[in-house]
Amino acid sequence: MRFLVVGELNPDLILCDYRSFPVLGQEVLVEDLELMLGSASAICAVGLARLGNTVRMASKVGTDQWGDFCVHALTDAGVDTSFVKRDPRSKTGLTVSITGPKDRALVTYLGAIATFHAADVDARAADGCGHLHVSSYFLQQGLQQDCRALFAAAHARGLTTSLDPGFDPSEKWAGGLRETLGETDVFFPNEVELRGLGGSQDPVECLRRLDNGHTLIVAKLGAAGCTALDRGNPVHVPAFPVKPVDTTGAGDSFNAGFLHAWTQGMPVQESLRFGAACGALSTRAMGGTGGQASLEEAEAMIHATVGN
Ligand code: ADP
Repeated sequence: MRFLVVGELNPDLILCDYRSFPVLGQEVLVEDLELMLGSASAICAVGLARLGNTVRMASKVGTDQWGDFCVHALTDAGVDTSFVKRDPRSKTGLTVSITGPKDRALVTYLGAIATFHAADVDARAADGCGHLHVSSYFLQQGLQQDCRALFAAAHARGLTTSLDPGFDPSEKWAGGLRETLGETDVFFPNEVELRGLGGSQDPVECLRRLDNGHTLIVAKLGAAGCTALDRGNPVHVPAFPVKPVDTTGAGDSFNAGFLHAWTQGMPVQESLRFGAACGALSTRAMGGTGGQASLEEAEAMIHATVGN
């Protein structure tokens, strides 16, 4: 399948293992650092490519070194970047992650992420593609406004569509999302996002409240697995047992696995299983893309755990 991923693109600068957490007016030391490809959309794009799909990404970055880094990282992963716009008036966004053994703090400069609009996406980007995916709906306030129209145009051209909301920094969980879901075939909230959107502690109750009769809603529930409402009936797949090294990007890798299976016409339960295997395998290495599954690895994990 040929995929078009439209969305944000930025590096993550990870400052690993702080000796003490930073406080104003003081300098603290960390044990290591890594510069990695960040952003939910890009991690999903790389996950799809790793599974053997043809993937194109449409995005916007600056003409700075961070933008170069992102484009090179995508190209190295086999993702077509010919529709990644380089805008000399924007700075590429960046997330700094200060990590410790128990938790981490994230600081993000949005830069080009905030000024990216559907109008930045050349209509030819969808040529030859069968599916369009967008992540980080709430973070991308420019793209958010036109997302429904972008999806409607994709539907008119015969593509299927999927959306990952990402966290809503305003925690209002609005932003025209329900209208956008009218043009969305698959929707991928995680547990926190599902609760914010559905207003209940019970994932299945949230799925029922969000059900619009058209969108397949897939709830990602971390180590508790995933649940979807398939024509009104809850379908649950447990998580594969792994010892996670870093869960960054597990949800985006799950999306890639689910979409790989679902766009081939696999039933919902099998697609959930494929997503869960890709989510679990992605946690075996640092960063969003370091541990992502190949097709053989995902199939081997499913086969070893649940048989055919
Ligand atoms: P997000 O990264 O969007 O918050 P989740 O944490 O729910 O999403 O992870 C997505 C999927 O990845 C889960 O539904 C699960 O299948 C898999 N996964 C995540 N964390 C683990 C884990 N600790 N063990 C096994 N599988 C996991």
